[in-house]
Amino acid sequence: MRRSAAVVLILILIVPSQLFGADPTLAGYSPRSSQVERDWETKFRAIPDPANLREYMKRLSARPHHVGSPYDKDNSEWILARFKEWGLDAHIETFQVLFPTPKVRLVEMVEPSKFTAKLEEPALAIDPTSNQKNEQLPTYNAYSIDGDVTAPLVFVNYGIPEDYEKLERLGVSVKGAIVIAKYYHSWRGVKPKVAAEHGAIGCLIYSEPKDDGYTRDVVFPDGPMRNADGVQRGSVMDFAASSPGDPLTPGIGATPDAKRLKLEEAKSITKIPVLPISYGDAQPLLAALKGPMAPDEWRGTLPIPYHVGPGPAKVHLKIQSNWDIKPVYDVIAKIPGSTAPDEWIVRGNHHDAWVNGAEDPISAQVSLLEEARALGELLKQGWKPRRTIIYAAWDGEEPMLLGSTEWAETHADELQKHAAVYINTDGNDRGVLNMEGSHSLEQFINGVARDIKDPEAGMTVWQRMQLTKIAEAKSADERKELRQRPDLRIDALGSGTDFTAFIDHLGIATLNLGYGGEDEQGIYHSIYDDFYWYTHFSDTNFVFGRALAQTIGTSVMRLADADVLPFDFVDFADTVQKYTKDLEKLLTDKQEEIRDRKQELEEGVFKATFDPRRPSVAPEKEEVPPHLNFAPMQNAAEALAHSAEHYRKALQARQNDIDQSGLAATVRALNQQLIESERRLLNADGLPRRPWYKHLLYAPGVYTGYEVKTVPGVREGIEQKRYGEADQEIVRVAKALQDEAALIESAAQTLEK
Ligand SMILES: [Zn+2]
Repeated sequence: MRRSAAVVLILILIVPSQLFGADPTLAGYSPRSSQVERDWETKFRAIPDPANLREYMKRLSARPHHVGSPYDKDNSEWILARFKEWGLDAHIETFQVLFPTPKVRLVEMVEPSKFTAKLEEPALAIDPTSNQKNEQLPTYNAYSIDGDVTAPLVFVNYGIPEDYEKLERLGVSVKGAIVIAKYYHSWRGVKPKVAAEHGAIGCLIYSEPKDDGYTRDVVFPDGPMRNADGVQRGSVMDFAASSPGDPLTPGIGATPDAKRLKLEEAKSITKIPVLPISYGDAQPLLAALKGPMAPDEWRGTLPIPYHVGPGPAKVHLKIQSNWDIKPVYDVIAKIPGSTAPDEWIVRGNHHDAWVNGAEDPISAQVSLLEEARALGELLKQGWKPRRTIIYAAWDGEEPMLLGSTEWAETHADELQKHAAVYINTDGNDRGVLNMEGSHSLEQFINGVARDIKDPEAGMTVWQRMQLTKIAEAKSADERKELRQRPDLRIDALGSGTDFTAFIDHLGIATLNLGYGGEDEQGIYHSIYDDFYWYTHFSDTNFVFGRALAQTIGTSVMRLADADVLPFDFVDFADTVQKYTKDLEKLLTDKQEEIRDRKQELEEGVFKATFDPRRPSVAPEKEEVPPHLNFAPMQNAAEALAHSAEHYRKALQARQNDIDQSGLAATVRALNQQLIESERRLLNADGLPRRPWYKHLLYAPGVYTGYEVKTVPGVREGIEQKRYGEADQEIVRVAKALQDEAALIESAAQTLEK
């Protein structure tokens, strides 16, 4: 009752300013060109049809279509034929990449009893594509090094650095051991990486029912969750510490004649062998562990006591792969721009999957296709986009962003000259819109979300997002901001999908979008992610698929047609200010924590809590982190805020004549400055120890994988206790932000000429 009463009140408050068309002039448009644009967009949004989305999905997910498989090639040719049928200029671009597939996989317990893991997802009679055994990739982690090891087992929770600190306190070492970690709470490749750094010689990763199995909902095929035999395949390439894409051609396109590293020289292959297993296979291994009880929050919901080990369970793990070079087929379609053909809007989603991949990635690939069909229709009706639009169906995303990275590296020079924005999707479900991206596009994408109707809730997508965030907010302050700030904050980009090379390596302003959050799922990267699952447990009538096509298509058109690219820097400056404060707080929290622990050690807290029957090890005394000088970042953030306000005012003042031919040269110069704005946040030398990553504000964390680290040089410097480095990074970041402020200032001046 209370919640619905609050919802009514909020609706009344926001009705005047937030409804459709309340602000008729789009940012970057004149009132006249804005009306023309809105008319075309309305026509566009009427075209996408759920029945088509369903048909495309049925076709594309009909057989397994991983890199190198016959149906992967077949799908890319089918997509090419559709693009052409819809009147687009399209071709396939092929790269040659390293893609290992397993030939030997073995997990057996040799002590204290014998058990051999199945490592097999059985076909289910009710699920018609689950029996395509000849074409399915076995369960494995791609880019695990080959190995044959036998050792005592240790349970390491999620296998993230904090878990090893806890193990140390329990007096348990993983040196010479095989570890078993649960999936989730970090990207999977972090688990073997951290295990190897602590001296482990092998790694198993299992799907715990508490995380995506029976504890959450009914298991497949009666429900959406992972069953006892379901396994999450996936790449463990150490992309965050080196680079994504083909491990043999880092930084350059994997064309046939590219200079390749030898396999032994590839930096992103794991250091120890790693294999994923089901909880059916994990349970006997975990049940055979003794040693200390696992901490409360480590325990899952299998009917066993969760011990840490080491042993007495002893495990034999053997993995051997075919290390072959395989082709990837990117399907690229182009709509040439009429007025500014050298300014590009790029939109992509991958088409390869681990197996049938109806949800990942086909559920969003079908929206991309329907957008392309609708844009083809508009072209026939006389629509002429101002800028060039490029549609890309990437191959090889699953092994680690192979197709998109190789394409971006091959075309790096052209892209850095011409690409204004990249928009990515990767899978779509039922629920609210998730918005991530460059903060110069925060205002823009909020505007698009205000114009899309939610298929379930009888309100706009934007309103549903706002109200959902209010419901989930953890404090009164958060709720206040959600009600008062004109734009909802978008999340920063980490990695885990095809936008990575565009934002992190090339500095192209990027958005990553998708609907979700209403349905639980436990089929990720298994043979059960298929048409049967999707049409029973996700967006079964494809209305969110249509909403996604409407959202992205509207975004693409609005970006492609705007007189002035709709970048805005007020939200961006606000975000930079927030990041600066967050970093200062990170440091003071760390200082307080270490000071406090020091005091506890002196007081004898650990002596007092020591239980001789359950011995533990006191933490070591640590130096309190030094103070860092954040002043350069604070000054830069202020300069940014000032120039951002100036630019916004200058653009508003010019709104009425921005489409006049007399201003064409000014507008052209201005758009060049705007395209440059994300590039200014790059540094040619890249981040410390990972030069491929050049963006100073956003990067995937070295120890989180997909999850973002904002201002990564400074943040990881503090987290990893390299305080001198953090201090230097503050100066580098501040310099880039000052350059950015100067560019925005000169853009404002361009408008005032
Ligand atoms: Zn995907």
